[in-house]
Amino acid sequence: MIEVSYRQAVEQAKQVQAKILRSIPDGLIVEEDNIPIVIGRGSKKDCLGVLARLYKFSDRINATFSKHITCGKGCHYCCSLKKIQIFELEVLFIQKYAKKKPRDILLVQRDFEHQACPFLVEGCCEIYSHRPYACRKHFSMVSARWCQPETGESFKFPMLVFDGIERGLFTLSRIAGKERILDIRQVFEAE
Ligand code: SF4
Repeated sequence: MIEVSYRQAVEQAKQVQAKILRSIPDGLIVEEDNIPIVIGRGSKKDCLGVLARLYKFSDRINATFSKHITCGKGCHYCCSLKKIQIFELEVLFIQKYAKKKPRDILLVQRDFEHQACPFLVEGCCEIYSHRPYACRKHFSMVSARWCQPETGESFKFPMLVFDGIERGLFTLSRIAGKERILDIRQVFEAE
């Protein structure tokens, strides 16, 4: 029974994915493709400013299809996933702009399954406008019941990958010399 429902949900996700791809204006897709090249020409100066612009661009793309996704305020299953990746550069961004101090000593890398992100407060993200890219790219095209801890990481659904933004973030982090990828719970703790 659950298998049939899962197949239906995957089909639904594929249809939504196709709608999303049709919703994004061609101009934005071209701009997105060029991001790694534009960022690659930059210098170490103002990497945090470039990161802010990259986030804004990601938000602009997401806004073009937000009506097709099922995520909403107060839904936070994905804030307790096994892995919530953050670049070291993004740690600096949160520290500077969201005024959150990282731990003095990082926790060791491990799975943080079912352990909520330290910035999840009363079901909402405390640093929403400064959240890392991993959180911006994570959205659901099916019912939130598929995101619940008991199903969330065992069933696979189609994903949308914005390769230009991802490669741009890698490039920027490398230029800044802050390309280490950590888990947000290694770095920050609840206040
Ligand atoms: S930073 Fe915000 S959106 Fe990302 S996992 Fe933490 S609480 Fe959730």
